[in-house]
Amino acid sequence: MTAVAILGAAGRMGRTLIELVAAAEDLRLVAATVRSGSEWIGHDAGDIAGCGHLDVALTDTPGDAAAAAAVLIDFTLPDALEANLAAATAAGTPIVIGTTGVSAAGEEAIQRASGQLPVVYAANYSSGVTLLRRLVQTAAAALGDDYDVEIAEAHHRYKRDAPSGTAWALGESVARGRGVRLEDHAIQAREGIVGERPAGAIGFQALRGGDIVGEHTVMLAGDGERLELTHRASSRATFARGALRAARWAAGRPAGLYDMDDVLGLNDRASD
Ligand code: NAD
Repeated sequence: MTAVAILGAAGRMGRTLIELVAAAEDLRLVAATVRSGSEWIGHDAGDIAGCGHLDVALTDTPGDAAAAAAVLIDFTLPDALEANLAAATAAGTPIVIGTTGVSAAGEEAIQRASGQLPVVYAANYSSGVTLLRRLVQTAAAALGDDYDVEIAEAHHRYKRDAPSGTAWALGESVARGRGVRLEDHAIQAREGIVGERPAGAIGFQALRGGDIVGEHTVMLAGDGERLELTHRASSRATFARGALRAARWAAGRPAGLYDMDDVLGLNDRASD
């Protein structure tokens, strides 16, 4: 039985994670956090997820959660990340991070923490997207700069960050395939008289609306043909299942920074 704490229990992902942990025979929910001031503090985690009483009172103290759990799962918002990492580090508890839109300072904090404990950090915990990143890297390497790359993503109306962490990760796969740095070639928005498309640009488009769980298309457009690689998530349970798989995998690992490639055993680090 692995003791799990969910950080961000009131969110869409947090609720789904609690439901799946409650249903898993090898996992036990021992703590769950919500933001400070939340009306949910003191209520039972099972109530927030609508899955029956779990005897776990919601708190706003990640330190207590880290002390009680064998592994933390963080699906909060970027400004909560550093406190969650500090709690994980103080307790030496492995952490699985799903939060996206993380700042450069947040990424540094992730690096620092991974020197002391296992940290799994992935922009997308679905197996399909993990494989898509590899396919995209192969396609970009094979087709080269003659094919223009545009990455389009669509998400529900509540998503705060753009482009999605997954879209950016796909852009990194393109850059890796081409042997360039994404930061030097990314175009995140176009408006007005922007001129011709620069050679080698990697473009991003973000659509927002309704209840779209998450869709990503990488288009490689050449002269006379176009290749499109698309992933569509139809349920956020797919991300939650992947995060739980990562949590089972992370508990008891040596310190280090890992991603879904490692969790799935695709560990030649080729798509890191
Ligand atoms: P959401 O807005 O529904 O949930 C985020 C929750 O975190 C909110 O309830 C908010 O109150 C809570 N929160 C904020 N600060 C907190 C704190 N200090 N302690 C505890 N809780 C805190 O968003 P969501 O759709 O559930 O997604 C959560 C995060 O996960 C986002 O960053 C999203 O982009 C990301 N995400 C990642 C994946 C993946 O596979 N990596 C998949 C889906 C979503």
